[in-house]
Amino acid sequence: MSLFGGKPSVKKGDMFYAWTNDPDIAKKAECGGAVTSLLKYALENKIVDAVLAVKRGQDVYDAVPTLVTDPKQLKDTAGSLHCGSLLIAKPAVKILERNKGMKIGMTVKGCDVMALHEYAKRKKIDMNNLLLIGVNCGGTVSPVMARKMIREKFGVDPDTVHKEEIDRGQFIIEFEGGHKGIKIDDLEDEGYGRRTNCRRCVYKVPRQADLACGNWGVIGDKAGKATFVEVCSEKGADLFSKAAKDGAISTQSPDPKGLEMRGKVEGAMIKLGEKWRKKDFDALSKDLWGAIQKETSRCIKCYSCIENCPVCYPSADSLKTKQYMVKPGEVPPNPMFHMRRFAHISDSCVNCGQCEELCAMDIPLAKFSHAIRVEADSAFEPKLGKSTYSN
Ligand code: FAD
Ligand code: SF4
Ligand code: SF4
Repeated sequence: MSLFGGKPSVKKGDMFYAWTNDPDIAKKAECGGAVTSLLKYALENKIVDAVLAVKRGQDVYDAVPTLVTDPKQLKDTAGSLHCGSLLIAKPAVKILERNKGMKIGMTVKGCDVMALHEYAKRKKIDMNNLLLIGVNCGGTVSPVMARKMIREKFGVDPDTVHKEEIDRGQFIIEFEGGHKGIKIDDLEDEGYGRRTNCRRCVYKVPRQADLACGNWGVIGDKAGKATFVEVCSEKGADLFSKAAKDGAISTQSPDPKGLEMRGKVEGAMIKLGEKWRKKDFDALSKDLWGAIQKETSRCIKCYSCIENCPVCYPSADSLKTKQYMVKPGEVPPNPMFHMRRFAHISDSCVNCGQCEELCAMDIPLAKFSHAIRVEADSAFEPKLGKSTYSN
């Protein structure tokens, strides 16, 4: 069924199955290739000047952010990389700061969208210059953890793996000689699995993007061959309807059973995130200050957590002007070095996990800042923790 059987209107809130009409993209895409085709359409038609997406680097564990200006190269960015440690918002801001007025199309996860909105609030970027194609996100696995887990739990040499995916609650690998899946719950009970910030994440469908795309809800003969698209803004509606009209993508209405299933999976994933929050935060609530003091006592003050935080801008600026609130030259620094940052981001931490991921001393920084943010939310807006925006 064509979207344009005489009714050319697509509006916010509409949902579709969509798939690419480009055979090269279809070959590489994760599902229907709608994401890559929509970005390609936007680039070809000068709706954007460039596309920022992610492509595979040395292996499946290596996700590389890539700025593309030649539409032909976009097929290289198709496919999902679940071991990507990327917060793609940060490179986007750097690019926009250096290229004033440039319009960028981007693929974004929930934490990317939230980070971009935080940058916009700080007037670092203009959201009007961004076209955001969101992807639903069940979570990511760090490359180090993925390799360890594949070796120890799957009994497979990680270098022989050519595809990994998270589907129906399983982490699945394809490798030379077969494929294998293990339930994420079982892996996580044994200390493997997704990044700890992803476990606590409840922002599964990025409705703050222009379109939210995923595989949940695609059933029947289109399963694995179409992308589920939810239209989230007028800008998204405009892009989607033009791309469909000009034949870049094909579309059909979603199966009602698929719609129901998508809602249920999203609900189950939110519950899982809440379960992990309770587990992580209950343990901390007994003595948060004591836990912070103990863990940060091994800090080597490398500043990586500050430099990689998407919402900690003033602190990064104060680094340049050397206006430190703690005495310089002390290692480990006074715990106020950390408390200052936690307080500073207590209303805006997006739980992207970059501080923890990139900490040289494996300090569980994201757990602390996320716990403080959620606590602050509950003090000021009791319902915010359950909204679709807050993470
Ligand atoms: P494609 O045309 O193949 O395009 C995929 C796009 O994703 C490309 O632009 C690529 O550059 C980008 N990308 C790949 N890896 C990353 C990354 N790590 N960070 C940012 N961008 C990336 N859908 C669900 O319905 N449920 C889920 O639980 C779910 N979990 C996901 C987890 C991750 C980490 C990612 C990246 C995606 C997840 N998705 C999930 C979305 C799904 O895998 C597909 O991206 C989506 O269905 C679009 O399919 P497509 O064929 O149209 O995408
Ligand atoms: Fe995905 Fe949430 Fe993890 Fe971001 S924090 S990568 S949106 S699960
Ligand atoms: Fe300290 Fe880790 Fe931050 Fe480096 S990244 S300053 S070691 S807490």
